[in-house]
Amino acid sequence: MTSIKAPKFVRENQWAGHSNPLWRRRDKKKVTILYNMFERRKSLFIRTYLEKAGYKYRDLGDHKTEDVHYGREWGSRMMCNPVYFTSGSFIRALLEIEKNEGLTKEQIVDQFIFLGGGGDCTPCRYGMYAEEYMRVADDAGFKGFRILILNSDLLPYPPPPKDAAFKFSTMFLFSFCMSFILADLMHIGECAVLPYATDKDAAIKTLNECDNLIFKAFRNPFFYFTLPAALFRAGRKLAAIPGEKKNLPLIFITGEVFANYANGDANYNLRRFIIDEGAEPLPAVFSHRARYECWRKKTYFYPYSKYSETKKERKFWKKYCNVLAAQDNTTRFLFNLFDFFFNQKQFSGKGELLDLDMLSALSEPYYDKAINGGEGNMEIAEAIYYHDKVDGFITVKPFGCMPSSGVSDGVQSKIISMYPDLNFLSIETSGDNEVSILSRVSMLLFKAKQKVRARESQVNVKAPSP
Ligand code: SF4
Repeated sequence: MTSIKAPKFVRENQWAGHSNPLWRRRDKKKVTILYNMFERRKSLFIRTYLEKAGYKYRDLGDHKTEDVHYGREWGSRMMCNPVYFTSGSFIRALLEIEKNEGLTKEQIVDQFIFLGGGGDCTPCRYGMYAEEYMRVADDAGFKGFRILILNSDLLPYPPPPKDAAFKFSTMFLFSFCMSFILADLMHIGECAVLPYATDKDAAIKTLNECDNLIFKAFRNPFFYFTLPAALFRAGRKLAAIPGEKKNLPLIFITGEVFANYANGDANYNLRRFIIDEGAEPLPAVFSHRARYECWRKKTYFYPYSKYSETKKERKFWKKYCNVLAAQDNTTRFLFNLFDFFFNQKQFSGKGELLDLDMLSALSEPYYDKAINGGEGNMEIAEAIYYHDKVDGFITVKPFGCMPSSGVSDGVQSKIISMYPDLNFLSIETSGDNEVSILSRVSMLLFKAKQKVRARESQVNVKAPSP
């Protein structure tokens, strides 16, 4: 008879998850918030809220390639790339504080808190971010490190305790909304002027000056007055950048929200690469993505407000949908208002908020709008919408992304067969295959330039002889 050996490692206590203790109001002054809002401009502008509300803060800076390595080392297997980038940047920061500032792990747990993104548990992994942050901190020895999760939901459940030091208050959400709109406008400016600028270094210097101008105005307690003036001045400065008149191919970039908007190592600095290679990227507008989030939830939950079993439930969902509609309308209103002062038209900016119902109608036969997760039907809708408006269409998705790589790209093959002229490229970012990805982008740009040349020669042929 063979005896069965007992396993070598036995977990004695039932695992009860990671703890995330409350950051109490009485500790407000001794705790520093570590944060990074996708990329440097959003991080810069949201800093104004943290300053005005009296928090100590530390911007972790843009995500770097090495963050993926930290994320993979400390995080769970088989996650998607943004989880590795964000949790990696967070754990790298903690380890660097320990090494460079001589604090013990316990002191770091006591004196710092991390503000990161996370969401509802759709078919993608967004709902698992919070757990991952706590896991990497625990496993690296920072037991009980506190995490604040910025969720796109506006009705927090359960509501935060009264003595919480930080609440996702209406003022915070309003400031966050303003921050990404301001960042959008500057990105629109960068995409419009940099490809044509005669002196690119000088243009980058002007862009940085405009960032600071807007930041200082937004930091001012009377920003209702100072911000419009700063946007007006920034718009004029960008319009005054000397540029060449030339026909450059127009490239639209879409894809998973992190890979698309990180504008740095997380997407191989794709936008700058496209500009350096002589093309104009169409700016990815985060305000559009934020509106889509509201639209998606409103579409999904609206039937609940009609057909839920009890009156109380119907009332709850009705209120929820109204809040989403208010958020959507506020985003659109502020974007248009700020753009009025910034006036992107004066430097041929091409940032726009598209009609989400129109986009949904375009994609409806191929992608059900009720399919949730990631970018949902958006990438398909955008491919159809832009097929005759751009010279190249790139969709960026992180390695291991379920909705974008697993679902959306499958449907895209149908869209490409319908529009064979669509110069389409899907790239998967893993954080460490830069050369092979950018060489594929180069091929797309080569074809895009051929399209521009073909258009120019058609115009020349049709032009009447003098
Ligand atoms: S959309 Fe994709 S990459 Fe983004 S969180 Fe979900 S699974 Fe990850």
